[in-house]
Amino acid sequence: MIDYHIHTNRCGHADGEAVDYVRAAINLGLDEIGFNDHLPLRGDSGKELGLAMALNELPDYVNDVMELRKSFPEIRIKLGVEADYTPDTESYTKALLTKHDFDYVTGSVHYIGEWAFDHPGERKKWDNKDVDLVYKEYFELLRKSARTLLFDIIGHCDLVKKFGNRPSHELLDDLEETAKVFKECGVAVEINTSGLRKPVHEIYPSYEILKVYKRFDIPVVFGSDAHTPDEVGRDFDKATTLAAEAGYDEYVTFENRTMKSHKLDSGKSIHC
Ligand SMILES: [Zn+2]
Ligand SMILES: [Zn+2]
Repeated sequence: MIDYHIHTNRCGHADGEAVDYVRAAINLGLDEIGFNDHLPLRGDSGKELGLAMALNELPDYVNDVMELRKSFPEIRIKLGVEADYTPDTESYTKALLTKHDFDYVTGSVHYIGEWAFDHPGERKKWDNKDVDLVYKEYFELLRKSARTLLFDIIGHCDLVKKFGNRPSHELLDDLEETAKVFKECGVAVEINTSGLRKPVHEIYPSYEILKVYKRFDIPVVFGSDAHTPDEVGRDFDKATTLAAEAGYDEYVTFENRTMKSHKLDSGKSIHC
């Protein structure tokens, strides 16, 4: 099994050095992990805000992952990165991503306009929002993020539900349109277990959404979104069961931005 969404203390809101996450993954018997720390923000404000590593730390992050790869041959270690998607930072992100040889890039929508809708400090702003409109805008941003072709994986692709806000109507049209764009753009989606640790208490994406993605044959990866070493591989028994129930019998990995499929053995759970 793989865990493709692992942060480190460089981002300013996670605990533990990269090596601690590797040791946790080896203890769990994972075959492969991918570091997916937050890409420096435009204007280099991420460190100060506790959201991402500083720009000058990016080469060190890359070197750390390369060194760990040599030190721990018993597990495959991939170099990923989680890049925020906002329409106005597209060219900045594009330029930064060319500087290093990532195995994969996860594109994540955490902002609608200036609003960090999933940030606990911004949660109160939900009170004045039209939830249906927020969902519409969110899925539109997901489609836009895929269309940039900057990303291999679209991260936690119903994060908008994090605090339990739900739309008043079925989203099927929006979901199908989104799945169609994902297919055209060749991206995978992530089954991210961190939602189970958030107010919504649900994996990202939900079973209903994952079924739509399966119908459009969108590949999946697995990620814990670990921000502490003990979160590595967390709830992966639930994630693999969800994938199997939605009809998936394969997952994918990435190397040098090339996707490869593997058989999903949902019966082989890891102990965590
Ligand atoms: Zn984070
Ligand atoms: Zn994220």
